[in-house]
Amino acid sequence: MHQPSGDRLTPPVTPGFPWPRLPVAPEERILAQSLCPGSSAPAPGDRRLVGSARRKASESKGDACGPHLRHLRHLWRRHCGGRRAADTWWPHTVAQVPPLAPGALSASDPQGRWICPVGNPESSPCVRGPGRPGGGDEAPPSPLPRLRGRSHLPSVQSPPTFGFLLDIDGVLVRGHQVIPAAREAFRRLVDPQGQLRVPVVFVTNAGNMLQRSKAQELSALLGFQVEPDQVILSHSPMKLFSQHHDKRMLVSGQGPLVENARALGFKHVVTVDELRAAFPVLDMVDLQRRPKTTPLPRNDFPAIEGVLLLGEPVRWETSLQLIMDILLSDGNPGTGLATAPYPHLPVLASNTDLLWMAEAKMPRFGHGTFLLCLEAVYRKVTGRELCYAGLMGKPSLLTYQYAEGLLARQAARRGWAAPIRSLYAVGDNPMSDIYGANLFHQHLQTRREGAARSCTAILVCTGVYSPQAPGPAAPALGGEGPPFHGHRDLGFNPGLLQAAHVVSDVHEAVRLVLGKEGWAL
Ligand SMILES: [Mg+2]
Repeated sequence: MHQPSGDRLTPPVTPGFPWPRLPVAPEERILAQSLCPGSSAPAPGDRRLVGSARRKASESKGDACGPHLRHLRHLWRRHCGGRRAADTWWPHTVAQVPPLAPGALSASDPQGRWICPVGNPESSPCVRGPGRPGGGDEAPPSPLPRLRGRSHLPSVQSPPTFGFLLDIDGVLVRGHQVIPAAREAFRRLVDPQGQLRVPVVFVTNAGNMLQRSKAQELSALLGFQVEPDQVILSHSPMKLFSQHHDKRMLVSGQGPLVENARALGFKHVVTVDELRAAFPVLDMVDLQRRPKTTPLPRNDFPAIEGVLLLGEPVRWETSLQLIMDILLSDGNPGTGLATAPYPHLPVLASNTDLLWMAEAKMPRFGHGTFLLCLEAVYRKVTGRELCYAGLMGKPSLLTYQYAEGLLARQAARRGWAAPIRSLYAVGDNPMSDIYGANLFHQHLQTRREGAARSCTAILVCTGVYSPQAPGPAAPALGGEGPPFHGHRDLGFNPGLLQAAHVVSDVHEAVRLVLGKEGWAL
């Protein structure tokens, strides 16, 4: 692979690669080959290359294309240098660039705007063009057919260096209904082949379903294929806790609990119902569920080695009781210990949302309320604080770090080897979406490793947040003031509730980001 050196634009060349023969004028072929040593065919991405070559030639004549050429050169270095491999980028580039008519010198976007003059210094956007200082309003005639659909851009767009973290409820859907703006947003983000133009992950605090089920639901609602590994449920980061994956874990929640736990990597899981069946005398709140006879004590039940709290359970009194039994007995609920072990067994928990909105006029209890109960009971009984080995779901840093990793993997899989530097988190809940994005941005400012440099919080008005409603409150002091709904361990900094942008919906958010990143709208 040839690396760029000095001022020379030297494209990567993979010997033997079957470069597609796009139509190129003879003089352009010569220029392309001069910049692409070893290539017997017109250079891949030839329009860009030929355009660069011509601009380079015109630059030497001292015309106004210098800034444009320098921009191209910057892009070239950024995307061709370092780890970028020719065989991962060029095919993608070629695939995205529609064939150019022989001798064609320009291209237009679907709105017919002139976006990519190629080769002719006289028609360079650096010299004149729509919306440019001193430029004319008339675009040169385009040799390409006008394309239908905004996402079908004959773009020479470089690989993305940014990605989206999209909340689901209140941003893309309300209940089972898709928000119309979400479909508009994805018309801009998906190319004509149904592939995303930028990496996107869907980050939700829901957790009582399977990742693949959520992906299927989103695919049906949004009209393009969403892969399961693009979906981050509140407990998805538990995959990172491999040190606990071989332990025998008690799992609390509802829905496909065991399947979820196994998908997260936990090989040995015991549900609360299974534990209750093994030790019937533990669950005594409901008179109807008390054992009618006294069962024999058993000592053949392997010890529990940790607790997974995946989501709110359906019988809180049973789950609270049995989880406490496990923590107080060091995993052996058939025995009684004189003193509770501390530190206790590892507890991993996801989704700290205190409340959530359903069809009812008033908010419903979320898993955060269940955690609050468990923490209060543990503190009251033992005099110590319940400690979490891991607390995830928005707004925890863990979730954003996990999302960053998935975005990077998604980009690599698509052959976009440019590092994803800028993250854009779009959400409707200031306390989870905005607080979490700002918390992660704050973390990125001091982090030395990793690719991401920023995480921008964008608040939409299609869900929890309403511009007319008062914002989330700070922790109350002395019983006065508004209540604080965040989790105990995540602290509270009112400054982190301020979104960088407040927009009407996710479509406006996507337009904003594409504009900021210099991408065609
Ligand atoms: Mg939401």
